[in-house]
Amino acid sequence: MSSAHHEVVVIGAGIAGIHAAYELTKSETPRDFVVVDALDGPGGTWRTFTFPGVRSDTEVFTLGYSFKPWTGVPYASGQEILDYLTEVIEENDLSAHFLYQRRLISASWSTEDQRWTLNFDVRSGDVVTTETMTASFLWMCHGYYRHDEPHRPNWPGMESFEGQWIHPQQWPANPEIEGKRVLVIGSGATAATLVPSIASECAHVTLLQRSPTYYFQSANEDDLATQLRGLATPPEWIHEILRRKAVKDMENTTATLKLFPVPARDALIGQVAAQLPEGYDVATHFTPHHEPADQRICRILNGDLFAAITRGDVTMVTDHIATVTPSGVRTAGGIDIDADVIITATGFDLSIFGEAAFDLNGVPVDFSSTVTYRGILFSDVPNLAWTFGALRLSWTTRVELVSNYVLRLLDELKASASTSVVPRLKEKRSSMELSPFVDPSEFSPGYLVRSASRVPRSSSEEPWCYDIDFWSEKDRLPTAPVRDEFLTYEGSGIA
Ligand SMILES: Cc1cc2nc3c(=O)[nH]c(=O)nc-3n(C[C@H](O)[C@H](O)[C@H](O)COP(=O)(O)OP(=O)(O)OC[C@H]3O[C@@H](n4cnc5c(N)ncnc54)[C@H](O)[C@@H]3O)c2cc1C
Repeated sequence: MSSAHHEVVVIGAGIAGIHAAYELTKSETPRDFVVVDALDGPGGTWRTFTFPGVRSDTEVFTLGYSFKPWTGVPYASGQEILDYLTEVIEENDLSAHFLYQRRLISASWSTEDQRWTLNFDVRSGDVVTTETMTASFLWMCHGYYRHDEPHRPNWPGMESFEGQWIHPQQWPANPEIEGKRVLVIGSGATAATLVPSIASECAHVTLLQRSPTYYFQSANEDDLATQLRGLATPPEWIHEILRRKAVKDMENTTATLKLFPVPARDALIGQVAAQLPEGYDVATHFTPHHEPADQRICRILNGDLFAAITRGDVTMVTDHIATVTPSGVRTAGGIDIDADVIITATGFDLSIFGEAAFDLNGVPVDFSSTVTYRGILFSDVPNLAWTFGALRLSWTTRVELVSNYVLRLLDELKASASTSVVPRLKEKRSSMELSPFVDPSEFSPGYLVRSASRVPRSSSEEPWCYDIDFWSEKDRLPTAPVRDEFLTYEGSGIA
């Protein structure tokens, strides 16, 4: 058991936590801080996910940071992204701030002491001990899903299956899928990238989905980047130009999907149909029931999934699971799928504040009864920020906006010789109509829908909302006030 005090403790060493560390060291005000992560190294998502074919679904000009040019192909492998993040830590001399294999299990705020007491489980091999540290300010960069536990639906008969279960979030070192009949359950980016990557080595792959997904297919090349590189344009310029283009392209795409859902839908489905053999049952397997703007559209590179289907390596089944059997799965429609290996690409479970137990002076915090202030702070919870990224375009685009805001907030704490800042709703609360953190009518992936009752609330009233509209927030958040009628500063001098 050890203990230490830090001005800022950042939880999570993924894209968000690394950016927080970068900003904290670049700030004119020197600050004592640590970044703590449960994993055994940095990278977050890009360390946890190692399944074959894991790659980005948005281009890395914007999934990467504004300050470090991306010089590779637009859609990069998980390993390439992990290398990029590791380089950011090395190039900026950040590694001394990072602590690994420490899981935050509880966070207690003391008004009297004006600080958080944080308890961590520290893992060393199979041995787990406890470590305590205190923090004046707690910055949660824990992402949005649980890294330790994937989402596992509970199907009848699961225990009877005689083959191997694999979850892409916990990809084994030796998966033994070569020459095997593999059933992949799920739809979405993970299934769509995994299946073409393993299809040729397996005896056969069946992709069983409950409902179809929208796909957009492209080459892994950006013509403008290629042209600019051919003109020996400096990488920093190319990076900035491609970032602006990506943000504008996605703004146009989002507007088109919302304004013209029917033609957009027809175009997306038509693009898929054109890649598949004549007479293929596109209506069943590739015609989604939701609107194109409701969820992220999966990107297929060079038509690899459709080519694997056309070759006969992959069979699509769109149906519900009735039961798992000793030899595979029987669907509600009566189809028996025999398999040696079942891969459950069934998504994530949302992580509410790292699944740590929070309390304020001993009173447990129920985050679902808090209201978010700008999608960063939470009503009545002092000195706590959460970096939640962008949903419709690269996560990192909003990460950078949030880091900038938090740094300004920390500067204001120091400048005003305060020890805490807390957003107080006051009498406003009774008049506000509240919804889950992300408005389900705007965006509704499974992990958000399943946990809607556990997340902080949001409203349609500025500043009490998480704004899914990055394009307006990108102009507003950089100048959003760190003092207003709701932010209450207390104490004298940061502890
Ligand atoms: C396969 C896959 C592909 C993706 N592709 C894209 C893409 O192309 N574009 C895009 O924008 N987004 C993509 N995403 C979303 C992706 O998660 C984000 O882009 C981004 O990597 C999230 O960064 P983060 O730092 O906020 O969180 P994460 O990467 O989730 O990192 C959070 C870190 O916090 C740590 N942590 C959590 N709780 C605790 C705790 N209690 N104590 C200590 N440590 C804790 C975790 O161990 C983890 O290391 C993808 C996600 C997956 C799974």
